[in-house]
Amino acid sequence: MEAGKPEKLIVNGRRLDGRRPDELRPLRIKAGVLKRADGSAYIELGKNKILAAVYGPKEMHPRHLQQSDVAVLRCRYNMAPFSVEERKRPGPDRRSMEISKVIREALEPVLFLHLYPRAVIDVFIEILQADAGTRTAGITAASVALADAGIPMRDLVTGVSAGKVDGTVVLDLMKEEDQWGEADMPIAVMPRKKRITLLQMDGNFTPEEFRQALDLAFKGIDLIYEAQKEALREKYLPSLQEEKGEEK
Ligand code: ADP
Repeated sequence: MEAGKPEKLIVNGRRLDGRRPDELRPLRIKAGVLKRADGSAYIELGKNKILAAVYGPKEMHPRHLQQSDVAVLRCRYNMAPFSVEERKRPGPDRRSMEISKVIREALEPVLFLHLYPRAVIDVFIEILQADAGTRTAGITAASVALADAGIPMRDLVTGVSAGKVDGTVVLDLMKEEDQWGEADMPIAVMPRKKRITLLQMDGNFTPEEFRQALDLAFKGIDLIYEAQKEALREKYLPSLQEEKGEEK
């Protein structure tokens, strides 16, 4: 057995943190947390703590990276040195470069990039504390930050992960489950259209388990989508009501 691995990850239908297989970790999303970014959001999902900041659309520099007909979406996923147990060496590595790329591809379909030729939209995702599922929680926060920046969008994008632990299909894996489980499937969805914009998989599922995992993921996405909308309402509803002269 691997060092530190508990004998069982699910006991009497309960996971290490007491959740049932179909439960999300405690979730909190706040929109507009940074004064100097055009849009921002903060998410906590279990022990994950993640900030997303958006700048733009603004003129792309260096100019040779400009696209004459569309805006460029630039995403940077970065883990703080103190975000994981052993200090993480600062700066980009293969993993963060791959994650930045798949996050960009997950967010691009909701944006109208042709509205801003030669511009750039910068999305920074800073992982302050990591406990598995950071790419999907990062996507969830980034789409709230894009909306907070006032950038027109077709939909939000909502991410979650589903997987398999001790032979059971589970929603929203935490670190121990990601590390010792049999499968991890991060997924991002445009929730209104139910269009998948990211699907990755580590490990293996039977076709039936895959269907179960997809089903669980969509249930989790519904809940997370509600929290995203609530975060935006919380920030914007009071000022909208003020404009209309309504009481707060
Ligand atoms: P995700 O966070 O999207 O699930 P991974 O599956 O690659 O991405 O990573 C799972 C978890 O493993 C991370 O959330 C983090 O807790 C941990 N982890 C990732 N990279 C490192 C690292 N360089 N050092 C220590 N822990 C890491």
